[in-house]
Amino acid sequence: MLSVEEAYQRIIACFSPLDTETVPLVEALGRVLAVDISSPLDLPPLANSAMDGYAVRRDDIGGAGEGAPRNLAVIGLVAAGQVSSQAVTSGTAIRIMTGAPIPAGSDTVVPFEETDEVQRRDSGQTLDQIGVMADLPLGCNVRPAGEDVSAGQMVLTAGTPVRAAEVGVLASLGLDSAVVRRRPVVSILATGDELSPAGSPLEPGKIYDSNSFSVAASVLASGGSPRLLGVARDNLEDLRSKLEQTAGSDLVITSAGVSKGDYDIVKDVLTERGEMNFWSVRMRPAKPLAFGHLKDGGGTAIPLLGLPGNPVSAMVAFEMFARPAIRTMLGYRRLARPKVEGVLTSPIFNYDGRRVYARVEVTRKDGVYYASPAGPQGSNILTSMSRANGLAICPEDLPKKDSGETVEIIMLDWNEEVDV
Ligand code: AMP
Ligand code: MG
Repeated sequence: MLSVEEAYQRIIACFSPLDTETVPLVEALGRVLAVDISSPLDLPPLANSAMDGYAVRRDDIGGAGEGAPRNLAVIGLVAAGQVSSQAVTSGTAIRIMTGAPIPAGSDTVVPFEETDEVQRRDSGQTLDQIGVMADLPLGCNVRPAGEDVSAGQMVLTAGTPVRAAEVGVLASLGLDSAVVRRRPVVSILATGDELSPAGSPLEPGKIYDSNSFSVAASVLASGGSPRLLGVARDNLEDLRSKLEQTAGSDLVITSAGVSKGDYDIVKDVLTERGEMNFWSVRMRPAKPLAFGHLKDGGGTAIPLLGLPGNPVSAMVAFEMFARPAIRTMLGYRRLARPKVEGVLTSPIFNYDGRRVYARVEVTRKDGVYYASPAGPQGSNILTSMSRANGLAICPEDLPKKDSGETVEIIMLDWNEEVDV
């Protein structure tokens, strides 16, 4: 039996970042930059005001205070987006709005609150004069040109994941598109005579195909582009013809037919169509796993991951092996989910020396994480996957992890609802 690490290494070794494409900026969200980005300009481009107020010369306001206003002649107004044609000279000020470029001759901005503007207005005076009532330091409320980024500076490097902040940074440089790794196309094929498509009446003996959908959703959530091929029946002809439709994919994911049952003919067809390995991986759930390459007509070898059929096994195997493969193709360097340590609230049992991934609901209280098993742990009990936000690990060499013990938890998501 392979360890989880061995299986992981063998799979991940077969993937690398895909080619690049240029996409409109917002579509870069969730992708990875494929090129370094250096700034064509200073940010901000010009020194500008951090406040609404008056642009002054600091030498004019030294010693100013509540009882000792310095009166300056207001010679103009500059709003954001304008460049003042006037200069501030000794004894003068220009009214200025947040973001407006600092006029020539000025070096300091006095906010409205630090002037007698309100008193002047209230007593009906015009604002051709203003009294400054604070002695502010040189450069106060002036945002220098290039304060954030200077022209030529490397702002984002290739390999950076694009979040909303990176979208904003790219836009602030004037870019309206980004060069990113393209999304992998992932073909998804469920197999099994017992499967009925959702939306149709359920015939006796059948079950609805949930794997196609949980896997497609997982592909989307991982940044891939799912292509649903439907269900292949447990016969050679149907499986062969469905596999014909995988041409052009970056990854094929099948479910079921990789264990030891009578109808597990997926093994036979995969072997006939490619170079496949069938592994037992020392983990629970998701022991049976297939991985290899499918040869499409053109001689291209497409990686194929055969997930086990049980719905939880399929999802856990996806988490452990398919998600990191998809992230590798997208260009991510960090492939794993975040892990935390938490206190177990009831035991996890390990019957046969496999690594157990228990579905748990993780909560936090007084700064400590707690992991509570999210219901029955059978690999067919999909609702307990739905209740879980983490997978708590019982190592292969321990017969159990007891209640009260600390466990490592893979966080599947951070659910705000459970943070108590
Ligand atoms: P198999 O690997 O074909 O022996 O399947 C193992 C178990 O998973 C069986 O109980 C199947 O009915 C179930 N199963 C297989 N495929 C799916 C699917 N697409 N959706 C839900 N359950 C499935
Ligand atoms: Mg089957």
